Formats: sequence, structure tokens, C-alpha cells
Amino acid sequence: MSGHDPSGSAGERLAVSGRGRPASAPAGGSRARLRTIVSDGLALDWRRCNRARIARDARFDGCFFTGVLTTRIYCRPVCPVKPAKSRNVVFFPTAAAAERAGFRPCLRCRPETAPGTPAWHGAGATVSRALRLIDRGFLDDGKTVEDLANTLGMTARHLRRLFLSHAGASPVAVATTRRVQRAKSLVQETAMPMAAVAFAAGFSSIRRFNAAFRGVYRRPPTAIRRSRSGRDPSHLR
Ligand SMILES: [Zn+2]
Repeated sequence: MSGHDPSGSAGERLAVSGRGRPASAPAGGSRARLRTIVSDGLALDWRRCNRARIARDARFDGCFFTGVLTTRIYCRPVCPVKPAKSRNVVFFPTAAAAERAGFRPCLRCRPETAPGTPAWHGAGATVSRALRLIDRGFLDDGKTVEDLANTLGMTARHLRRLFLSHAGASPVAVATTRRVQRAKSLVQETAMPMAAVAFAAGFSSIRRFNAAFRGVYRRPPTAIRRSRSGRDPSHLR
């Protein structure tokens, strides 16, 4: 999130659905609860994010994700699909935060391929370092959040608090999202057997891989692979 922004008011906070404008309630979830999750201390600027996603501004790719309340799908700012109405969108600093709020990744813009570790407004060096460690698989080989916190020289409780306020999700949720993202890329881009995908992505068992994948994509990994080799993927979203 860089560059001068003449109209973006300082301190404008992320809010659900255009800050109070009425919108239909999201399916399968309390709107108030969603508002709490989405606006919980996150310093995303709603108007700036909204302009960026309508313009498909590639500079913002990886900086935030757009959740569409009507479809419960989340996207990168550069998604090729026709942008949703502004009253129907919310913004998240991470894919994990979007998933925590009940959104699933778009199959067109593929949020798992968004570049880099986002540098959010106000995200501290500690959180950035923790995210890099998680990205490299710190929590994938039996280590715990306590171990991660020790490495960073703080308590697990404090680390969790930092994550909730900067990443919008816990360290474990971020690690799970990352694992599913890696698996999705392997499913889609390789012919590896599913069991090999599970372990290569950092899952400790095939059962956990299947459960996590279904939890995020609402379909089994095999459905993603089939859609790759078979029909036109444009039917997927
Ligand atoms: Zn998309």
C-alpha cells in the first residue's frame, strides 16, 4: 500500500460492506460476527482497497484480498472476473483472514498465487518475520506456536495477539492456509499423486490434507485436478 492517496482519509478503518450501507446478509453467518472479525483492529483502508480492486491495480496484488459477500468467494485485486458491487465487498489483509471469515478462494484469480508476503499498514517486523518462518514451514514439522514465539523472543499469547491484529488470523490458521495453498498449486500444476501432494505441502496425514482442502475449497482436491484436465476452467469460480 504505497503512493500518495489524496482522498483516502487517514485512519479510515476496514469495514464491512461500504461502512454501514445496507447489504443482504451473507449466507450462513451472522453479519455482526463477520463485522467483528473483519474490522478487528485491521488497518486496511476500505476506499483505497475498493479503488484498487475496481481498477485491478496490480501494485496492490498481495496487499489485500477482496471478499464478495454475495458469493462468499475471496479474490486478488487483479481478478479478471467482473468486479462485484462495492456494497457487497469486504477486505482482508491475508488469505487466512478471509478463510477465517468463511470465504473460499476464487478459482479464477487463484489467491494462492498472489505475490510475496504482504506488507500491511502497521504490520510490525515481528509479524513479518513470523510470517516468513511460517511460510518456510516452521509450523509444519511438529513445532508449535509456543516454539515460534520462543524463536521470536515473546510469549505465545502475545504472538497470537499480534497476529490477530495484523494478519487477521492466528499463526495456526495462517500456517494451515499456507499448506492448503501449496497443495492447491501442486494439485493444479503437477501430476503428483495426492498422497505425495499432502506430504510435500506440509500436512502430516492424507486425512488432514483432505479435510483442510475441503474446508477451504468446498470440494475435494480431485475435483480441482479434474477441472484442470477436462472442461474449460471458466465455469469455475
Ligand atoms: Zn477472483
